[in-house]
Amino acid sequence: MTHFQGTAQTALQTVVQHAVQSIHRHPKRLAAAIATLLLTMGGGAFAIASIESSSNQVVVREILEELALPQAQQPVLALPVAPLTLFRTTTTRSNDTADTLLKRLGLFDASAAAYMRSNKELHQALLGRTGRLVSVEANGNRGLQKLTARWLTKATDGQDADNTFQRLTIARTELGFESRLETLPLVAMQALGSATISSSLFAATDEASIPDAVAVQLAEIFSGQIDFRRSLRKGDRLSVIYEDLQADGESMRSGKVLSAEFVNNGKSNQAILFQEAGASRGSYYSFDGNSLRKAFLASPLEFTRMSSGYGIRVHPITKDKRAHKGIDYAAPTGTPIRTVGDGVVEFAGTQRGYGNVIEIKHRADMTTVFAHLSRIDVKKGQKVTQGDKIGAVGSTGFSTGPHLHFEFRVDGEHRDPLTLVAEGGGAQPLSAAAKASFDKTSLFMRVQLAQAATVRLASAE
Ligand SMILES: [Zn+2]
Repeated sequence: MTHFQGTAQTALQTVVQHAVQSIHRHPKRLAAAIATLLLTMGGGAFAIASIESSSNQVVVREILEELALPQAQQPVLALPVAPLTLFRTTTTRSNDTADTLLKRLGLFDASAAAYMRSNKELHQALLGRTGRLVSVEANGNRGLQKLTARWLTKATDGQDADNTFQRLTIARTELGFESRLETLPLVAMQALGSATISSSLFAATDEASIPDAVAVQLAEIFSGQIDFRRSLRKGDRLSVIYEDLQADGESMRSGKVLSAEFVNNGKSNQAILFQEAGASRGSYYSFDGNSLRKAFLASPLEFTRMSSGYGIRVHPITKDKRAHKGIDYAAPTGTPIRTVGDGVVEFAGTQRGYGNVIEIKHRADMTTVFAHLSRIDVKKGQKVTQGDKIGAVGSTGFSTGPHLHFEFRVDGEHRDPLTLVAEGGGAQPLSAAAKASFDKTSLFMRVQLAQAATVRLASAE
């Protein structure tokens, strides 16, 4: 945000020039061109505004400074703007009081401050918390007209609870201030993104402003096709359509991945979220309708920003791959471990070299073993479903540092765990009845993904 000095007239010229240059450099922004504005109400304020190309409304985004103009010069500029509302936005800080919050919002309103100090809901929602977005509408005297804050509904465990948000509103009425706290549904809009891999998945998605939660989903969705820890190539490309969950038009967080294409080493991998009639939730399919869900997940550790830097390594004790009948995943102590497939817990307890260990029996005499755990979350005989958290990484037994020792056996014979997905086979194919409906979704998503890729090209110019 730039500040200008001088008379309102020269400031106006400077901003208009700046706006013209900005429009020239970014023709696509014409619709929300930065304009300037000026006016009114006995004082005059110098502000930045945006004007929708199709609208006769000017929305003031930020008051830069108030101008004390000699009476003779007023009004400096008369824009065809009907009642002016001034908006300002800030995020809460942990040491905020009602007074500091209002001050940062450019308001001087003793009655509003007094009301906010006495308002319990406002205290709980905004004071002592960081990062909550607060916006105000002010009247011409820097008085509070309306204050609105929005945040995601939290569950008791601190996670985002469901698809709702909280909205706290404080509004000036004829009888004084009134406040209201509401729980409202988030609206799922579609967002698109695309990225090219140069080093890692997260480096690419960071650069393309694709949320972490979307990157993690991509790694999970394609885990049966692509080993994101080891087989990404420079130049691999991805396009993705995902839910952008909004509160009153403001983006709050990302939701589910709706479709994606990932070109790895020249090969296209595709995913479309589709829910069969009668199914409890959707699953992912390729463009031509093959399910991506496999009997086994590729990895017992979820792919995260934390774990993506870690990898598979040689056994820390024997330093000998031949003597070692599994894979070691280096990961921090406490990293959750999940079962790679449906099954029953055959053993959960301590064995000499393995430390805390879990053995799970799957169909067709396939078993998986998880060793050196810091924590065991299941009991012998318990049924588990693919993806269930069963324990956490540790360093118990013969272990020199935190890691997960993971084994895969068929009829008691050790197999390479990296062949798990292939040996487990696929899952239910799409039913014939759902095919026509799926094909429509698939076609629509392909068009969207192609558009996502173009957006990337345009912004890279
Ligand atoms: Zn090991």
